[in-house]
Amino acid sequence: CGIVGVTGRKDSVEILVSGLEKLEYRGYDSAGIYVNNNQKQAHLVKSRGKIADLKKKLIPEIQGSTGIGHTRWATNGVPSIENAHPQFSTDERFYLVHNGVIENYEELKQEYLSDVSFASQTDTEVVVQLVDHFVIHDGLTTKQAFKKTLSLLKGSSYAFLLMDHEDPETLYVAKNKSPLLIGVGTDFNVVCSDALAMLNVTKDFLELHDGEMVVVTPKKIEITNQDGESVHRDPFHVDLDP
Ligand code: GLU
Repeated sequence: CGIVGVTGRKDSVEILVSGLEKLEYRGYDSAGIYVNNNQKQAHLVKSRGKIADLKKKLIPEIQGSTGIGHTRWATNGVPSIENAHPQFSTDERFYLVHNGVIENYEELKQEYLSDVSFASQTDTEVVVQLVDHFVIHDGLTTKQAFKKTLSLLKGSSYAFLLMDHEDPETLYVAKNKSPLLIGVGTDFNVVCSDALAMLNVTKDFLELHDGEMVVVTPKKIEITNQDGESVHRDPFHVDLDP
């Protein structure tokens, strides 16, 4: 029920975990993070229960400069490690966190993914497997595959953060009917469901509108609307202490 992301910070694990702790008030049954460094060394850590349980698994070797984190409030599939996010594609290339519900995931699974063996019962896994399918089978770029996938999610609610193992500094971001903000930093950027989660690293935030897709790297934030046109938006300043 909460999402955090960061790119361009060596202390990404600490930022993700402290962000998830600040989102605890939203309620959740499990949590997880995925981090990658610039050398494509990656770690996925998930746990049922409290953020404190997740923290127990975070040994010092688990570090990275880009990452995503999630607290889950199960809607499709019981609370379990397999169903906790980040969800990933079978080839372990794409990792996704999601808040919301994909209404037509059964149909999408049947239409495009009948040959895929699923590791979870979540609606979310269908989305990450679809992105992988469009990249591997149709030869689309990750951005094109993400855009195509979004266009298929009829009537669904989502806040998404997607990472690609082949492009480890980029966060692919989208939202529809679920809250999501970009936090603007110097040589780093963050993403969160609620500004509260990131006030210790930035006070400047960009609002996102439903249907927009954003590509975030440490130095760039590129917003495009549903028609693929680029959107310019100024950040707003939050005058609150963490
Ligand atoms: N529908 C997704 C699931 O059940 C996301 C739930 C959430 O918003 O935390 O895994």
